[in-house]
Amino acid sequence: MSPSFFGGIHPDDGKRLASNSAIEVLPPPEQVVIPMSMHIGAECVPAVKKGDRVLLGQVIGEAPSFVSAPIHSSVSGVVAAVEPRLHPNGRNVLSVVISNDGKDEYYEGVAPHEEDALSPSDIIGIVKAAGIVGMGGAAFPTHAKISSALGRVDTMIVNAAECEPYITADHRILLERPDEVLAGIRLLMRALGLDRAVLAVEANKADAIKALKEKLRPGGDGIRLLTLKTRYPQGAEKQLIQTVTGRQVPLGGLPADVGCVVFNAFTCWSVNRAVKTGLPAIERVVTVSGPGIAAPSNLLCRIGTPVERLISAAGGLAGEVNKIIMGGPMMGNAIYSTEVPVVKGTNSVLAMTKEYDRHVENPACIRCGRCVAVCPMRLQPLYLYICERKGDAAGLNRLNVSDCIECGSCAYICPGRLELVQSIRSGKAIARGKK
Ligand code: SF4
Ligand code: SF4
Repeated sequence: MSPSFFGGIHPDDGKRLASNSAIEVLPPPEQVVIPMSMHIGAECVPAVKKGDRVLLGQVIGEAPSFVSAPIHSSVSGVVAAVEPRLHPNGRNVLSVVISNDGKDEYYEGVAPHEEDALSPSDIIGIVKAAGIVGMGGAAFPTHAKISSALGRVDTMIVNAAECEPYITADHRILLERPDEVLAGIRLLMRALGLDRAVLAVEANKADAIKALKEKLRPGGDGIRLLTLKTRYPQGAEKQLIQTVTGRQVPLGGLPADVGCVVFNAFTCWSVNRAVKTGLPAIERVVTVSGPGIAAPSNLLCRIGTPVERLISAAGGLAGEVNKIIMGGPMMGNAIYSTEVPVVKGTNSVLAMTKEYDRHVENPACIRCGRCVAVCPMRLQPLYLYICERKGDAAGLNRLNVSDCIECGSCAYICPGRLELVQSIRSGKAIARGKK
């Protein structure tokens, strides 16, 4: 078992709600809404127009620049509209709406690759063409991450910490498809020219760890399985690198600056599938859970499926639900309509009930210092809060507000119930002179 990083918290992880639910395939909906922006980087340009017939796996959004990722149809059918639609980020984003013909007719380009014959640049090309992005939620284009790490890194880390409460999508893919995840790791190692990788899994996934151990080739095949002490936010990139290697990513720096590159476990699974079958990023596993979900589930669903369909497949809402979150309860975002679609980075949909609401009318700091003790970035959340209230840009910069990873540990631990993360987000804008 590895040591851990500075700070952090041990929230009730709520994973028991869905961790024993095997992945179920959710039948595709009658209509998918596929936004042209589902990644960090330039928005895609629609490659189809209203009335066009499209096939499953066909490119419907072209990437206009290197830091971008093409977007594919997740069904076969007819384009019903190309227009702005509500995105999980709360904005209207240009989207391709496709009426599903129910035939799942594959695009001719969807075909397996001759794996043994692939060069590193072939693998990067397949990852790029498949539109694979960081599937743990960050959604940074994977081909760009590989390219920027080439020749600069000696350590590849696979992030299977899945430290956010309730989410079990990666847990289930590790448990149910360990071979496919490991094959994806080997492909990424080949693409990077590395002969070693560390697969880092939190100890609360004992069954998945056992399944992976059984599938690792004798001698480990260059892949070291590392069991991590369970602690939030273990899966944050900088914290994971520190735990696994002891290296500290410098302020404002990137993992490659300390010789590391990090991929999410589901991303590895997606890479393997793109190589083995030719299927691009058209579906993903989403955990539908939380105290307000009747039958917490892990659903393999097509990109563009409306969230309301996932909720209904998980038995519908239960209790006094006051918030629906996409992503985890610590770092995810509340959504205000269940009509928004699943996008590439959607790893969970959570329904929270009233008793989990931490909002109070008059939050007050009692100067206990607990927020400082848990901050994994060694910041002083209380003083960031004070500077934000005063609009003190110089103070915020002096306190390194931009280093905050918005993990929410400080707000979670705060007995005064200060809305520290919202305040720090606002503080970042003040520090940049944008407020
Ligand atoms: S944890 Fe909350 S109450 Fe304690 S010092 Fe920090 S902001 Fe104040
Ligand atoms: S200040 Fe930022 S990094 Fe530190 S605990 Fe709070 S949210 Fe996390």
